[in-house]
Amino acid sequence: MKIHEYQAKEILRKFNVAVPKGKVAFSVDEAVHAAEEIGGGLWVVKAQIHAGGRGKGGGVKVARSLDEVKNLASQILGMNLVTHQTGPEGKIVKRLLIEQGVNIEKEFYVGITLDRAISKNVVMVSTEGGMEIEKVAAESPEKIIKETIEPELGIQPFQAKKLAFALGLNSIQHKNAVKFLMGLYSAYVESDCSLAEINPLVVTKEGDVIALDAKMNFDDNALYRHPDIESYRDLYEEDPLEIEASKYSLNYIKLDGNVGCMVNGAGLAMATMDIIKLAGGEPANFLDVGGGANKETVANGFKIILSDPNVKAILINIFGGIVRCDRVAQGVIDAAQEIKVNVPIVVRLEGTNAMEAGVLLKESGLNFEVASSLKDAATKVTAVLRN
Ligand code: ADP
Ligand code: MG
Repeated sequence: MKIHEYQAKEILRKFNVAVPKGKVAFSVDEAVHAAEEIGGGLWVVKAQIHAGGRGKGGGVKVARSLDEVKNLASQILGMNLVTHQTGPEGKIVKRLLIEQGVNIEKEFYVGITLDRAISKNVVMVSTEGGMEIEKVAAESPEKIIKETIEPELGIQPFQAKKLAFALGLNSIQHKNAVKFLMGLYSAYVESDCSLAEINPLVVTKEGDVIALDAKMNFDDNALYRHPDIESYRDLYEEDPLEIEASKYSLNYIKLDGNVGCMVNGAGLAMATMDIIKLAGGEPANFLDVGGGANKETVANGFKIILSDPNVKAILINIFGGIVRCDRVAQGVIDAAQEIKVNVPIVVRLEGTNAMEAGVLLKESGLNFEVASSLKDAATKVTAVLRN
């Protein structure tokens, strides 16, 4: 799950990680009020969407008076913000973060994520703050300094010192950076994050070390431990089809192709997408209907898949290990009749009672193509699209 910058900063505050004073605003009036409460003479009006690159897209602006806060808030609220992460269609801004303007001396980068290859968390810093870190990694990887954290020990002070040292700070900044890194790591681990990224981390002339931006992603499987974090969920920022699918407990991820996939089991679903690509097609989605593929789950799966206008054919790939294939086939037939599916369907059922299932499908009088293997299924579904 993703959250907004202002929410991530609320979490960071709880872990004593320094962030600027700031308040969320849902209207222009609230924005002006927030600025008054924050005080001072310099504010930053920041669009809150689940995507980075807002500054370049015109979603982060500096205000020097309350009037300016008002003007900028009315400009940014409701705007369609396009950044390299939103895609060309952009995202409508519905929330703002009004923040105290910080006197930046230098911008850095800090990120924490899980390195799956070594099953350990890695803390990364770079002097190239404010830039896209992917670009730094590609063009000058030596500018990213990493420390691997032993899970049973957590981050050690010497590691935080080493990272802070790499940023070339003066002594007071160094001390604050060490405290910052230790706090950020605690926030990451204790909140079950999959990513915590501060870009930029800034040092000020006064020696403060502050998170100017904050991105936190969470492990969905651990959210039950954090009802407070779960309540940060902003459905508007998520794909409507994915939300719909989660209501039916279907694991659905929308993709850009035109072959809709309905599969039982995540591994088989991944393999199905691979083989569609190998056959020259493009999957429209990942969809795992779970172990017990019955009429309801199949019908819900059809509804979700067909809500995507790009879908021109559907590939159903079910392995009957726990479920019997003939039951699934009957479910597919019933659901297809009920939903009135109007694109060609290729079905591959393998496992218990696969033969009976094939007969049922063939005799249903519906427009199914029955495939005998995974490869056959992928070839058939891409052939259907070519015709
Ligand atoms: P994004 O990464 O989406 O563009 P950021 O939060 O990183 O958004 O903001 C973009 C830039 O705006 C930062 O690199 C920083 O230079 C400036 N900025 C952001 N917040 C503040 C702030 N509170 N005070 C001063 N400058 C800021
Ligand atoms: Mg940023």
